[in-house]
Amino acid sequence: MVNHKITRFFHPVGQGAFYSERHLVNEAQFNIVYDCGSSSASNYIDKVIKTSFNRDDCIDILFISHFDADHVNKISLLLKNVRHIKKVVYPLLTFNEKELLKVFYSDKNSDEWHLIDNPDLFFNKHLNSKNDKTMVIGVMAHDYQEKNNDENILTSGAHIGIDIDKKINWVFIPYNYHSTSRVEKLKQILMEDLNVTEEKIIVTLNLYLSQNKTREIKKIYNQLEDTINNNSMLVYSGPNNECSNYSSYSNNHTPPLELLRNFSHQSYLKYCCTYHDYFSNLAGCIYTGDIDFNHFKKEESLETIYQKHYKNVIIIQVPHHGSRKSFNINFMLGKNNTKKYLCPISVGNNNIYGHPGGCVLNDIIMQGSVPILITENIGSLFYQFIRL
Ligand SMILES: [Zn+2]
Repeated sequence: MVNHKITRFFHPVGQGAFYSERHLVNEAQFNIVYDCGSSSASNYIDKVIKTSFNRDDCIDILFISHFDADHVNKISLLLKNVRHIKKVVYPLLTFNEKELLKVFYSDKNSDEWHLIDNPDLFFNKHLNSKNDKTMVIGVMAHDYQEKNNDENILTSGAHIGIDIDKKINWVFIPYNYHSTSRVEKLKQILMEDLNVTEEKIIVTLNLYLSQNKTREIKKIYNQLEDTINNNSMLVYSGPNNECSNYSSYSNNHTPPLELLRNFSHQSYLKYCCTYHDYFSNLAGCIYTGDIDFNHFKKEESLETIYQKHYKNVIIIQVPHHGSRKSFNINFMLGKNNTKKYLCPISVGNNNIYGHPGGCVLNDIIMQGSVPILITENIGSLFYQFIRL
């Protein structure tokens, strides 16, 4: 039997996302990361990222949910502090989406801009030996599943395994949901705002940019933020076959909200003693980035997307830092599902958005699941240890 142990971390980086898994398979290591960014201001966050891996560790796969700064702006820092990132898996953008995002991230010196413009170059620009090349793989939108033989392109729902041992029952499944109605809405707003035809949108935006009309662009961007930001790639990480033979342990470091806002060591000790940790025989997790649960069709849910794998899930990351607009408990649960989940939420202590929404917490708690807040406080680190 394969000896497989896993640690899964939701790192305390405030308003952002930085999640990692270390798989130990017969003593060989396989590391994955999902997103690496934060918009919270704290020196501590950089240190969390610098010290999350040893300098001679490799990251086997880095998944990027989408290109918002708070999900990608610490990737460079991560790169500098590990030996190598072997593979990067990101959601493919259409030409227009890509050009549009580049216009809005008008700072050409920012990591986000370079990452969007040419992910392959971003990861391979400091290449010094052939062996160190990072393989950059785009995941096609779910409604554009054209067959192809390009090893740098995957379809949504493709299975990525751990290549250490064929017998490992573990899989990563990225899913790039493309909301047609959202793209249509975006086009409409832009055409109206710029007073141009569809073909002229990008050209006009670039013209604005060359004329330094940044205020106009900011105005449009603020209107659109919700529309373009939430094109986020889901990733399932868990057993490939239905399996409930795991033993997993998760810490519960979720203090009540008042306590988080008024953090002191003493109060921290108190809740540690009064709250329970979690044990489960399931090991699957769905990472959601900033996806909008409300953009899916009525009949769709995480269950219809991940089907048999959904049965293995115990952790569902609450999308978009617990934003009320992006959450929908029915989408999270699917039909007639009474299972309980652990629901980590990455959120900044003093974020200006009021995240996480009280009603999001309410929906989760009412259903019997557990919201777990991960902030920039060291004590909010959430981890899971899994053993088969
Ligand atoms: Zn975000």
